Amino acid sequence: MAYDWLKGISDHYDVVVIGSGLAGMTGANTLAKCGHKVLLLEHHYQLGGLATWFTRKGGHIFDISLHGFPIGMIKSVRKYWSQDIADSIVQLKGIRFINPQFQIDTTFDREDFTRLLIEHFKVPAETVECFFTDLRAMNFYDNNPETTGQMFARYFPGRDDVTRFLMEPIAYANGSTLDDPAITFGIVFSNFMSKGVYTFRGGSDVLIRKMTVELKKNGVEVRKHVLVEKILTGENNGKKHVTGVVANGRTIHCDTVLSNSNIKNTVLRIAGEENFTPEFVAETKAVRTNTSSCQVYLGIKKGESIPHIGDLVFTSEAPKFSSTDLVDLHTTSRTFSVYYPDTRPGSDRYTVVCSLNSTYDAWNNLTEEAYAAQKARLIEESITALEKYIPDVRNKLDWTEAATPCTIEHYTRHWAGTSFGTKFEGLKVSMDLPAQMPGLYHAGSVGIIMSGWLGTINYGVIVSNQMDKFLAQKKRTAEALSA
Ligand SMILES: Cc1cc2nc3c(=O)[nH]c(=O)nc-3n(C[C@H](O)[C@H](O)[C@H](O)COP(=O)(O)OP(=O)(O)OC[C@H]3O[C@@H](n4cnc5c(N)ncnc54)[C@H](O)[C@@H]3O)c2cc1C
Repeated sequence: MAYDWLKGISDHYDVVVIGSGLAGMTGANTLAKCGHKVLLLEHHYQLGGLATWFTRKGGHIFDISLHGFPIGMIKSVRKYWSQDIADSIVQLKGIRFINPQFQIDTTFDREDFTRLLIEHFKVPAETVECFFTDLRAMNFYDNNPETTGQMFARYFPGRDDVTRFLMEPIAYANGSTLDDPAITFGIVFSNFMSKGVYTFRGGSDVLIRKMTVELKKNGVEVRKHVLVEKILTGENNGKKHVTGVVANGRTIHCDTVLSNSNIKNTVLRIAGEENFTPEFVAETKAVRTNTSSCQVYLGIKKGESIPHIGDLVFTSEAPKFSSTDLVDLHTTSRTFSVYYPDTRPGSDRYTVVCSLNSTYDAWNNLTEEAYAAQKARLIEESITALEKYIPDVRNKLDWTEAATPCTIEHYTRHWAGTSFGTKFEGLKVSMDLPAQMPGLYHAGSVGIIMSGWLGTINYGVIVSNQMDKFLAQKKRTAEALSA
């Protein structure tokens, strides 16, 4: 008989959380600390969502999304998780750009970018100052229709080298383009410019294990291997509200659901179109997702070492930055994250993860043989590209593997392998969800601003505070009725 992964759970919870990405875990932790009874359900065998890792023969551990985040993580993690976790966040100092237009080493902060824009790119100091000040002053509620491309043209007309310098490191990660609203670039870029790029020393495995200990300490019931198939609803005065979920074929009653599943999955698949207004369904269907994350994992043999070539190395052979080239199946834009032994103190191992972008559609439409062949090409080309910086690296490898947006779809169930959430319009749909169906909330990568590790954690807190208010009100109403 199959093991019952839900054995021992209660019949009713204040909150069921669908998914254990950083937003799901943070939301669960915050709500449990507020005194609510919380059940966290994850379909995978590991918690963390995309903040994850995998191990391979030969003692390799590969991190998927531990490449860099802004300094704001220290404060968020200290406030919403623990001082101990915050204490392991350290700065990455070796950020490099290598492309046909320039070769630059930087600490990726405002001071160094100001110096480089003035000294290397010869942009007037007043323009640089004005650019940074305006970015900082950008406000989410301004409703400014300007795109990132238009903003660059205004400050740096005709300077595709400057555009590349400012845009490539952001676009490589979250798939944003020059046609996205300038506010999305402004907020993400300003967050990094505040004090540079940071990482979690110890690796994603240690981070997620520490978070899991906190969750359990705060009373969250955590279950893995549990797929939530359906959100159940009841009706009150013609309006639908949440009553529970069906997970692994079993009904669990609850007052609220926090879905950390992709927003399109949440509305169109798990809750179901029939529960929302046609306008909201149309808005949800129109949400564009970022679905282009690919990676090549290169494991260095035990006993071998590689020289320090930087922590994050942005490389490209494209003559200029182009949003379409960046996500082409044959892109030459590759970012190498190099993990030296100090990533995991006590270890003597090195790994390299090469991140690239090419669209889900390009991969998903391949036959099985073509898919395998394209993956093999991706691995081969990434090793060849790395040989430019570490000439003998090929002989030092004893594990190579590639992942595509289809891999992400398989492990997370996200719509079309969504990795960095949605384009701008996704945030509104996510935020409007409880007005459509009282008790149903969503937190997770949406709208570029609420994506990445920091945005996602912060969004988990924002949404769980709304849920806390909703649950408190519900309790007051129930008490008043029974008095
Ligand atoms: C290749 C790559 C590199 C990245 N690099 C960085 C980086 O360097 N810095 C950075 O800040 N960010 C990075 N990110 C982005 C970052 O990892 C994500 O934005 C963030 O981790 C997403 O968190 P989330 O809360 O939205 O949930 P996710 O991580 O997307 O997790 C959602 C969880 O829900 C589960 N789930 C879904 N449906 C169900 C269901 N029906 N029932 C049960 N469980 C379900 C999934 O299995 C998953 O565990 C990267 C992402 C990728 C893919």
